[in-house]
Amino acid sequence: KQTQRLDKILAHMGIGTRSELKRLTKSGSIFVNGVKVKDSGIQVNPDKDQIMVNGETVVYREFVYLMMNKPQGVVSATEDNRDRTVVDLLDDAYTPFEVFPVGRLDKDTEGLLLLTNDGKLAHNLLSPRKHVSKTYFAKVEWEVEEADREAFAQGVTLDDGYETLPGILNILNVGNKSAGEPSEIELTIMEGKFHQVKRMFQAVGKQVVYLKRISMGPLKLDENLRLGQSRELSEDELLALR
Ligand code: URA
Repeated sequence: KQTQRLDKILAHMGIGTRSELKRLTKSGSIFVNGVKVKDSGIQVNPDKDQIMVNGETVVYREFVYLMMNKPQGVVSATEDNRDRTVVDLLDDAYTPFEVFPVGRLDKDTEGLLLLTNDGKLAHNLLSPRKHVSKTYFAKVEWEVEEADREAFAQGVTLDDGYETLPGILNILNVGNKSAGEPSEIELTIMEGKFHQVKRMFQAVGKQVVYLKRISMGPLKLDENLRLGQSRELSEDELLALR
């Protein structure tokens, strides 16, 4: 797709609706390659032609890539009848791009969530054959032991009979039931079955009481992001994902 309607490009970039763009055209505020635009429906090549609106150059891009520190209480979806979604938390500037979450975190899970409108990249990251690793931090009731590490290293059988691939369990802090202290662990898995981390601990008789994703493939959660905040991926982060 070499050329597109100018108003379509600008609407996609979030510059304005079609009628707003008509007004901007009428007031002589839009230039393409230095020439004042008289019709916002003209064909332009967004990769080659220089577009200016109100004296500012419009940097065209088709895709956006965002990393969010997902808070609890919001669902990983674009729409929901009852709950707020992760997309509701994004700045309005991203609305025209129609991003969606890459995979899902449970409503009560926090941490790294990638959002994009790049369907191909999302598909690659989610493909079960690619075995993209995901690392979680969790608090678990109660004592997580060496035996659990060995069980996870073999793969465990979930409640529906599914045998998981091996998972790497790193025990950070052994909990203590009588003191009311859960264990603290990191778990890396290469697949993404429904409620997988919670169900893997269930398989060894333990309960996850707090769950946060800290990485996905080469992508690490930026700890500077407050819960509910997001930022665009850096060029290096994006290159590593591709
Ligand atoms: N495993 C879970 O149980 N929940 C999540 O949100 C992610 C992985």
